[in-house]
Amino acid sequence: MSTNSPKNKQQGVNTRLAHGPYDPHSLHGFVNPPVVHASTVLFENTERMKNRAASPYSYGLRGTPTTTALEAALDDLEGSAGTILVPSGLAAVTIPLLAFLSSGDHCIVVDSVYSPTRKFCNGTLRRMGVSVEYFDPHIGAGIAGLMRPETKVVFLEAPGSNTFELMDVAAVCEAAHAGGAVTMIDNTWATPLLFRPLDHGVDLSIHALTKYPGGHSDVMMGSVSANAATYERLRETQMQIGVNAAPDDTYLVLRGLKTMGVRLARHEASALAVATWLEGRDDVVSVLHPALPSFPGHDLWKRQFKGSSGLFGFVLKGDQSAAAAFLDTLEIFGLGYSWGGHESLAVAVDLSDRTIAKGPEGGALIRLQIGLEDVEDLKADLEAGFAAAARRG
Ligand SMILES: *Cc1c(COP(=O)(O)O)cnc(C)c1O
Repeated sequence: MSTNSPKNKQQGVNTRLAHGPYDPHSLHGFVNPPVVHASTVLFENTERMKNRAASPYSYGLRGTPTTTALEAALDDLEGSAGTILVPSGLAAVTIPLLAFLSSGDHCIVVDSVYSPTRKFCNGTLRRMGVSVEYFDPHIGAGIAGLMRPETKVVFLEAPGSNTFELMDVAAVCEAAHAGGAVTMIDNTWATPLLFRPLDHGVDLSIHALTKYPGGHSDVMMGSVSANAATYERLRETQMQIGVNAAPDDTYLVLRGLKTMGVRLARHEASALAVATWLEGRDDVVSVLHPALPSFPGHDLWKRQFKGSSGLFGFVLKGDQSAAAAFLDTLEIFGLGYSWGGHESLAVAVDLSDRTIAKGPEGGALIRLQIGLEDVEDLKADLEAGFAAAARRG
């Protein structure tokens, strides 16, 4: 779907984010695409109406110039054949699973998966008669041992949610494909700027656009970018279910994309500064950040990713009441779910649904989203939290 010329493909990602692929001259030169609110699309005559499959637009649900602009931008970033947009990141997880699984199939899912994804697999998928099994994020090519003739989907997420385990994506996909399964990855942490799953053999790359692409904690949306082999079935399922993204939300994500490269660079630098500072503290047991050489998955991260984003975890020495004292003292860091916006957030992590990747021991796991504030202010805020935790301990 991308309209990019070969020349544009060679340009840097920030140039492409700033300029493409929407062409301002396609609508009188206005820099940004129009926000098209639509249900009905009128046809000139019965012949056109009969052949509507050949026209770019036929009904609001099927897409508008606004959704096309965002789909094309994501296709360019992911190197995909086509992208669908849906109203949340979670819907971007559930729709491809529904597209490629039927009653009697077997689905294998990484154990460090985003917790609501597990709820969908254990709930709706099992109720549909799909057998669901979880795998160790460090399994690599060993995934071959879990493949059955009826295994139709292998679902990955890397780094893992909250615990940040890395995996050899190409090795897992090769074994999954050899067994005849479709592979999907939740690529939200990295964005397509830091990891391009389709280049590593993944069929479908999933994003919560709610996070860095939106970037300002004010919009919810998801996307699935597919290779040529899987795109048609994905799009057909989306249309059968009857969801697409709303025009104003789509516009907010298009706007967010324009600055995503510079925001991510700042999130990365600030998160690394905070993570390194935390690692040197006596009141911290360990820091879970893929870009730290001390992190067990560091080499796998370095080999596959172009950089790191602003979300990581650390283990606070002490129990849950020390963690509560720490969190309740923070003033700049907000206590709230989601991440990827301009502001810093902190949450106590609950890993009670894990069956294999049970996470680190020795204290309370806290997840930080490092926003765009000044690092010295963030450190001072955390320092006050540590003092409160020590008083509790
Ligand atoms: C937030 C998140 C989602 C879900 O996105 P929503 O837009 O909040 O539904 C999916 N996967 C991961 C890894 C996430 O962090």
